[in-house]
Amino acid sequence: MKQRDGLYIVRHFIDNAFVDALEGGTFETLNPATNRPIGIVADGTAADVDRAVRAARRAFEEGPWPRMPAAERARYLRRIGDLILKRAEEIAYLEVLDVGMPITQAGKGAIPRAAENFYFFAEMATRITGETYPKDGEFLNYTIRKPVGVAGLITPWNTPFMLETWKVAPCLAAGNTCVLKPAEWSPLSANMLAEIIQEADLPPGVFNVVHGFGERAGAPLVAHPGVQLISFTGETTTGMEIMRNGASTLKRYSMELGGKNAAIVFPDADLEQALDGVIWQAFSLNGERCTSNSRLLLHRAIYEEFLGHLLERVAAIRVGDPFDPQTEVGPLIHPEHWQRVRGYMDVARAEGATIALGGDRPPHFPEGNYFAPTVIVDVRPEMRVAQEEIFGPVLVVLPFETEEEAIRIANGVKYGLAAYIWTRDLVRAHRVAQAMEVGMVWINAPNVRDLRTPFGGAKYSGIGREGGFYSFEFYTEVMTIHVALTPPRIPRLGVGR
Ligand code: NAD
Repeated sequence: MKQRDGLYIVRHFIDNAFVDALEGGTFETLNPATNRPIGIVADGTAADVDRAVRAARRAFEEGPWPRMPAAERARYLRRIGDLILKRAEEIAYLEVLDVGMPITQAGKGAIPRAAENFYFFAEMATRITGETYPKDGEFLNYTIRKPVGVAGLITPWNTPFMLETWKVAPCLAAGNTCVLKPAEWSPLSANMLAEIIQEADLPPGVFNVVHGFGERAGAPLVAHPGVQLISFTGETTTGMEIMRNGASTLKRYSMELGGKNAAIVFPDADLEQALDGVIWQAFSLNGERCTSNSRLLLHRAIYEEFLGHLLERVAAIRVGDPFDPQTEVGPLIHPEHWQRVRGYMDVARAEGATIALGGDRPPHFPEGNYFAPTVIVDVRPEMRVAQEEIFGPVLVVLPFETEEEAIRIANGVKYGLAAYIWTRDLVRAHRVAQAMEVGMVWINAPNVRDLRTPFGGAKYSGIGREGGFYSFEFYTEVMTIHVALTPPRIPRLGVGR
């Protein structure tokens, strides 16, 4: 990516070219570790969105992409995967600079996974099938799946590169074209994807990026009549707003929204494993992850002991420069987000909870958006800190006595994305798992993804599933073809007097 005066120049990518915003506006993106600018970003408006959607429509209606054999599209996708791996260090660098996630977690986790998204959906592209419904030798009815058209892909600022590829790969694999609107707080790595896709030589207009803010660039993409699909990942309230705005152009939606996920630890669990799993799932990626187990439900029999070990370990988490390979928790994305997370500490105290650890800027970090890993205790299930998504390195701990109570507390939130159950009792594990009102449960493990399985949330955590063939449920149109094998009996109209 080009730089000027040490700042990255982040332009839109439309019809295979990097272009400025039509109205000429720009905004700055900041380094979360210092809050100093690192890039100047094109400030997209409806005019840029329209230009990008037109390019994507042309590519869809006239270009080769939806019409080429799936195996050929798969070759393009594999090339993108190869280029991501080739440039992995560079991408990880930009991601850490822009987002503040620890370098080890970007380099070893998020970036290889982004390449894997392309390899996986390259393979899946060639496996799209239809169904047949033979009818007594009279009819052969069958279905085919076709690409839908132009997709608007709207992504959040957490693990942006991985989440963008998670949408772009299946969208393109199915033969659609797209306009990606990355989050305004983390726009850098989307342009790396654009550079890679340009290098992979995809036909012009297949993949486009428009940068900008939600209301100015995201909203016109949602309302655009040339867009059929909206895949959105972000906050639940934004998802609701998007569904309202797309109603008059009847968008098809995939909604991956917020979460307030519970980890339930029973006394018979492998407690060391459970401790590792809970800490990883609460504090990795700076706690800025939708599947974070931000609520820990501890059985009373192990409450004091487990909490003791937890506090010891969390106090020892290494907060620091996200580029330092020793760092385990880096700075939060933005000063506004820092204020929001910090605000929840006052809410917690006002409601009678106790901040057992952390709760503020750690010592020795005078600048940047650093927030000490935090554990909140004396929490009741109805408190706001136990109900609302904080989206930072903050874990609330609640005790429970019985399995029924654990289930009630775990389900007693509006969200329903994921749950984690730690127990050696297999029967109980399955029983509790099946009682969870969520989209995904992990038993005796933190979030370990299998790309073939459906990913998504229940309740206020989302609508629809992506992953495996579920992605193609969203990114393809099913068409049914009815073939008469023998002349059907057709009631004859208009043959009377
Ligand atoms: P956000 O909702 O503020 O923004 C997400 C994206 O939507 C951004 O690109 C933003 O510019 C855009 N946007 C905002 N208003 C819009 C509008 N009116 N029309 C169109 N686009 C608009 O979310 P965020 O703060 O960037 O991300 C954090 C949230 O994302 C958390 O709630 C987290 O749980 C959620 N998330 C969910 C998943 C999941 O898979 N369920 C994964 C990651 C993050």
